[in-house]
Amino acid sequence: MARIVLAARPDGAPTLDDFRLETVPLAAPGKGEVLVRVRYLSLDPYMRGRMDDAKSYAAPVPLGGLMEGGAVGEVVTSNSPHFAPGDIAFGPFGWASHGIAPASHCRKVDPDQAEITTSLGVLGMPGFTGWHGLNEFGRPQSGETLVVAAATGPVGSMVGQLAKSMGLRVIGIAGGTEKCVAARELFGFDACIDHSAHGSADDLRAALKEVCPEGIDIYFENVGGKVLEAVLPLMNPHGRIPICGMIAWYNAGGLGESAQDMGLTAPKLWRNILVKFLSVNGFIISNHWNRFPEFLNQVAPLVADGSIAVKEDITDGLENAPQAFIDLLEGGNFGKAIVKVA
Ligand code: NDP
Repeated sequence: MARIVLAARPDGAPTLDDFRLETVPLAAPGKGEVLVRVRYLSLDPYMRGRMDDAKSYAAPVPLGGLMEGGAVGEVVTSNSPHFAPGDIAFGPFGWASHGIAPASHCRKVDPDQAEITTSLGVLGMPGFTGWHGLNEFGRPQSGETLVVAAATGPVGSMVGQLAKSMGLRVIGIAGGTEKCVAARELFGFDACIDHSAHGSADDLRAALKEVCPEGIDIYFENVGGKVLEAVLPLMNPHGRIPICGMIAWYNAGGLGESAQDMGLTAPKLWRNILVKFLSVNGFIISNHWNRFPEFLNQVAPLVADGSIAVKEDITDGLENAPQAFIDLLEGGNFGKAIVKVA
């Protein structure tokens, strides 16, 4: 089987030298495990954190270890009554052509319900993240204004579309004209600002102010950096900020210091939270899997009838996963980043 391992820990942005493609013998699944032939691998921003040897909510990938990742494929061998050969399973199979995992860590995917790639994006972990973060910590109310960056990615597009369906004014932030057009025309956002066209946080704030005449009630935080700086002063009293991610800083190493480099000093941040009575909630979606069935029941029909639009960016070949991942961190993906493995 083929697999991609972590060859070196990146210093800043990852490079191709940080990854290594290997061929290793295929192992046999143990008791209660399944062996899956991977068809599609999900690339997600959190994987950058796993490449650092830093204390976090999850352990790092060891040097020489298989790059972590969710994937979907066909069950080849099953030592569990819950899966039969030929079933489609999503599981933590990593960046590899084949994966073995306990059946209890896998989810059966119904290929008749939706394309199996959706189990990695709109109907998988990122879509669930948007749904949960918005409902639980955004507490959206009709008539309010919501801002979300990485607007055409699987998290941002879910947040924006759900908020729009609840009667909010929804403003996206995305990199480039093409993404901004998609945010409006495919995902139905009211407006979308191109962050790459606004060099400073002040410029970006001025553009945001025009499309948020009544301020911002919910800022769904995906990126940090310049966007956060632009948004903060526009937050309304009693606004909510679900902190989902901060991809602008993932390549910077020690997050505390880099935040200061970007001028976003703690006093500025704390003062805004204090004087505007903001609710700021960090969350990690893996702590909330108990609500996944509820999400799927609610959102799968919306995907099936087209009221939630789907955009995927599929790269061909496992060997191209490292470059696709490097691109993802720089905004090179347009839609949910997926690698077609077989
Ligand atoms: P996307 O597919 O949207 O990819 C990331 C996007 O981030 C890029 O395409 C780019 O979009 C944007 N981006 C990158 N760098 C910057 C920057 N410096 N400033 C502004 N935007 C930037 O990712 P996902 O939808 O999968 O994830 C979105 C966020 O949600 C990430 O921060 C991720 O870590 C987080 N997340 C958190 C989870 C949790 O449990 N808390 C679970 C899942 C995801 P563009 O070109 O449009 O700027």
